[in-house]
Amino acid sequence: MSTVIPAAAPIAVEAPVAPTSSATPVARAGRAIAHSPAALAGLAWLALVIMVSALAGAIAPSDPLAQHLTALLQSPSSAHWLGTDSLGRDVLSRLMHGGGTLLWGAGEASLIAVLIGVPAGLASGYWGGWIDTAISWLTDLTFAVPAFVILVALAVIYPGNTAVLMGVLGVLAAGAATRLVRNSTRTVRDELFVDAARVSGLPTRLIISRHILPTVIAPVIMLSATNMAIGVVVLSSLSFLGLGGSPETPSWGQMIYEASQNITGDPWLLVPPGAVLILTVVAFNLIASTVRDSLPGSPPPTRRPRRERAARRSSAPPTDSGTLLKVDGLVVGFPIGTTLRPVVDGVTLTVRRGETVGLVGESGSGKSVTALAILGLLPPSGAVLAGSAHFDGTELLGRTDRQLGRIRGRGVAYIAQEPMSALDPCFTIGHQLREALHHFGTGRRASAGRARELLVEVGINAPDRVLKNYPHQISGGMAQRVAIALALAGDPALLIADEPTTALDVTVQAAILDLFRDLVATGHRGLLLVTHDLGVVADICDRVAVMYAGQLVEQGVTADVLDAPRHPYTQALLGAVPSLESAGRLSVIPGAVPLPTAWPVGCRFAGRCRYAQDRCSAEPILLADADADADADADPARATRCIRAGELALERAR
Ligand code: SF4
Repeated sequence: MSTVIPAAAPIAVEAPVAPTSSATPVARAGRAIAHSPAALAGLAWLALVIMVSALAGAIAPSDPLAQHLTALLQSPSSAHWLGTDSLGRDVLSRLMHGGGTLLWGAGEASLIAVLIGVPAGLASGYWGGWIDTAISWLTDLTFAVPAFVILVALAVIYPGNTAVLMGVLGVLAAGAATRLVRNSTRTVRDELFVDAARVSGLPTRLIISRHILPTVIAPVIMLSATNMAIGVVVLSSLSFLGLGGSPETPSWGQMIYEASQNITGDPWLLVPPGAVLILTVVAFNLIASTVRDSLPGSPPPTRRPRRERAARRSSAPPTDSGTLLKVDGLVVGFPIGTTLRPVVDGVTLTVRRGETVGLVGESGSGKSVTALAILGLLPPSGAVLAGSAHFDGTELLGRTDRQLGRIRGRGVAYIAQEPMSALDPCFTIGHQLREALHHFGTGRRASAGRARELLVEVGINAPDRVLKNYPHQISGGMAQRVAIALALAGDPALLIADEPTTALDVTVQAAILDLFRDLVATGHRGLLLVTHDLGVVADICDRVAVMYAGQLVEQGVTADVLDAPRHPYTQALLGAVPSLESAGRLSVIPGAVPLPTAWPVGCRFAGRCRYAQDRCSAEPILLADADADADADADPARATRCIRAGELALERAR
C-alpha cells in the first residue's frame, strides 16, 4: 500500500511587502540623527563652531593677540562683547580663533585612528587565526600604554607641535577602532548573506568591501565622534598645562589656564572658554550616542578558525560520468568538551545529473552539517576528519577558500533556509544579481538584462519592480526565489538546498518545489535537498537518504523507500507524517536523537526502536544491501543499516 503524502497546489507569485524601514546601518544612523533633537542640536553647534573657526580671521572683532594694557580684565561691553583678559586681549576674538586648532587636532587624531583601525579590524575579524592574534596583541598594547603621560612627554620634546601630539593620540586610539571593527566584522562574517557571497565565488576583497565594510561604517562614525570629543579634551588639557600649542596661537585650553590664574579676581573669564569647550564635547557625545543607539544589538562574536585540512585530497574521478557529487565516508567532527567528536559519521551518497536526492532526518541527525562540509562552510570549530567529496571529479574537501571560489557558484551553488538572511540588506535585488553575474563574466550592460531574465526564470512576475527592491521590501517566498536566482547566476550544475521551503507557507512551498523540479528537469543539473519533511521528499526527490545520529540508516529510490521502508526509523518517520490515510492520531517516535556523546556501540536507533533485540546493541551496524542475498537484481543503491531489515520487511508485507 502506498503512503499518501499530501502535496499543496501551486499558486501565483506572491506580492512584495511594503517597505518598512531602511536597512543600511549608515541610513539607520542618519535617520536616528535626523529624528533626535539632541543630536541635531549637537550637529548645529558643531557646524557653528566649524564655520566660525574657519571665518575667524574675517569676522572676529579684533586681533586675538592684540594687547590693550589700558583695558585689562574688562567685563562684557559693547566694545568687547565677552570682555578682555589679563593682557587686555578681546575674549570673543580669542574664542573664535581658539576652536580651529582644537578641531583640527582632534580631527587629525580621529582620522588616523580610522585609517589604522578599520583595515586592521577588518583583517583581524575576517581572517581570524594568527592575524587576529597578532592584531589583538597590538591592540591590547595600545590599551596598556599610559596615553596622557606619553603625550605630556612628547609635548615637552616637541613643544608646540600639535600635529605630532595628535598623530600619536590617533595611533593610540586606533586600538579601540580596531577592536570595534573586528567585533563588528566577526558578527557579520558568518551571516548567511556573506556565506552566500562566498559560495557564489565572490573574491574576498569584494566580500569585505561590499558586504562587510558597509556594516561597520556606522560603528566607526560613532567611535570617530567619541574620538573627536576625546581629542578636544586632551588637547585642551595639554593647552591648560601650557603644552598643547604655541603661545601665539589662541586655544580654549590656554584661555581656561589663563582664566584659572584670575579665578578669584575675575571668574567670568572662565565662563566663555569653559562653556564652548563643554558644549563641543557634549555635541560630539550626543552624536556618538545617537549613532550607537541606532545600531542593532550584536550577537556574541564567534570565531571561525582555519578549517582543519584532514580530508584526503584524492583527485579520483567519479565512476559514473553522470555523477555530479560523490560523497564517500564523510566524517565531520566538532569539539564536545575537550575532544573532537564526530557528528557526521561515514556518510556516503551520490547525486547525478537530472536527479534530485533528498537528505532527510530529524534535527540533530547531521544532514545540514553534511551539506556545509561539502561546501567548505562548516561553522567555526567544525572540521572534516575523514572522507572525500568529489564534484565532477574534483575533490572539494580540504580545499582553501580561494580554490573553492573557482567551484562555488559556477559548479556548486547553495540555497539557504533563510533567504532573507542570505541577501545583503544594504543593496537592491538588482544590484546583487548584477554583481553576481558580473563576477561570473557577464558584461555590465548584459548583466542588467540577464538579471531580469533570471527573475523571470524563477517565476517572478514583476521583475522590473523586484530588481529595484531591497530584501526587506519583498516577501519570504519571493526572497527565496531571488536567492535561487542568485544561485543560478553562475549556471551551476549542482544545487545544494538546505531546508529551502521550511520557512515558507505550504502554498508558496509548493511553488518553490515546482521551480526546483523545472530546474533539475533540464537534465544537466542535480539537486541535493536537505529537509526534515518527507512530504517534500515524496514530492520531488528521485532518491532519498535517511540520516539518524550522524549516519545514513537507509537510502534508495524514493518510491521504494517510502512505499516499503526497511529501517524502523524510516518507518517511524513515515508514521509521523500526516496523510489522508491517517484518520486517527499521528504516531510519534518516543525519545530524541541521542547526542554524539551518548551514541551506543551498536544500533544508534536501538533506544527508540520497538523492534530492538539484544543483538542490535552488540556491535556497530553496517549500511548494507538488505536484498543482496535474496535478490541478485536488487538496486545496489538500496541499503539499510538494520540487522533485522529482512525480517521487518516481511512483517510489513504481511
Ligand atoms: S538494528 Fe535492531 S534496534 Fe536497530 S533499527 Fe534494526 S531492529 Fe531496530
